[in-house]
Amino acid sequence: MSPARSHADSLVPPEAVLQRLAAEEHTTSDALRELLLDGRATVLGSHARVGQIRACVVGAGLRTKVNANFGTSALSSDLVGELHKLDVAIEAGADAVMDLSTGGDIRAVRGAVLARASVPVGTVPVYEAAVQAAGRSGGPTAMTLDSLIAAVRNHAEQGVDFQTVHASITRSQLSSGAVERRRTGIVSRGGALLACWMRAHDAENPYYERFDEVLDICRGYGVTLSLGDSMRPGCLADAGDEAQMTEVAVLGGLVQRARDAGVRVIVEGPGHVPLHEVAAQVTAIKRACHGVPLYVLGPLVTDVAPGYDHITSAIGGTLAAMSGADFLCYVTRAEHVRLPNADDVREGVIACRIAAHAGDVAAGLPGAREWDEAMATARKALDWPGQFALAIDPTLPAEMRAHSDAGDAAECTMCGPLCSMRVTSSEVLA
Ligand code: SF4
Repeated sequence: MSPARSHADSLVPPEAVLQRLAAEEHTTSDALRELLLDGRATVLGSHARVGQIRACVVGAGLRTKVNANFGTSALSSDLVGELHKLDVAIEAGADAVMDLSTGGDIRAVRGAVLARASVPVGTVPVYEAAVQAAGRSGGPTAMTLDSLIAAVRNHAEQGVDFQTVHASITRSQLSSGAVERRRTGIVSRGGALLACWMRAHDAENPYYERFDEVLDICRGYGVTLSLGDSMRPGCLADAGDEAQMTEVAVLGGLVQRARDAGVRVIVEGPGHVPLHEVAAQVTAIKRACHGVPLYVLGPLVTDVAPGYDHITSAIGGTLAAMSGADFLCYVTRAEHVRLPNADDVREGVIACRIAAHAGDVAAGLPGAREWDEAMATARKALDWPGQFALAIDPTLPAEMRAHSDAGDAAECTMCGPLCSMRVTSSEVLA
């Protein structure tokens, strides 16, 4: 076990890291420290790794961050391929990644990811407990209380920076009938595994019942506790329903307990939400959870675009970021269809970064609008290298121009000699 630390030492990173983060966020170290101490912002970077990686901070008034998921599955467990996706995600600008591996030697995969990743790494320990149980008997009902807690500890000891723990799905929720009244039931994989276990054993959620043990582990290792929303809506019809909002109330209580224990905490959010309900959902969850940093999956604003869910989620993510969500989990075009490949990962990160930045501009975050203004200046000057350097994805537009018929022309092939940027420029008018 790592040495005991004060609450402040658990919540605030070493001074050099704090200063770097504050500078990146256009704020002061004192202001950022205050946000971290009162829980409105949270550092992603465990005690073991915070000084070694590009740790980041999520929270109120800070740049909206982007997470990319990858990982082996039981049907596709290619370590080399998943490490390539990790590289692609980071190269595309992901602020954090989650290793959701459930296939092959997942401890070894996690070790390789942690050794390679220059950004914070998150995991979902119940997956490992379920995989181990499946190996013993063929089903998640064979998970044990101790194996679930041990998974949290094992991931923390290995250096994982943030962990999703589904502590807020409770026995009373499962017996209320709210899940059965849903169109798509429980779509959170971790939530579904725990619900399966709870029903089979007629028992309370071990992560809820033994939450203090989870808190002790997270505080000891500087792990950010990401409270998973087991009841996140999996379709528009379930958004904001009894199952979701009952869980949100439980999440609020768990956030308070985590803060009282000096544990870094964030809360996960939806999911599938119609566009006109996104802002209200973000506001309601943030209020119920005492202003905790909110980490949303999407939200996907329509159910009918499989193959294009990087777009449905970017639309929802933009509005969520504008409305106060702090951390967006990307969704790839492969969502609902198959395991994403490296191209899906790259495209998903870019789409999510566009959403995050557009939300930040709309929210008036310091530094956000200046980026667009620099691009506008380069665009007016027909400064192509400058435009590519400023682009969220510098590669694609450069390739597109290189493979067009523009040649050495100042303008592009869209308007050619009628280029409005050119014909109104001072040198042409002179
Ligand atoms: S040619 Fe048209 S599209 Fe291309 S840079 Fe000029 S104005 Fe823009």
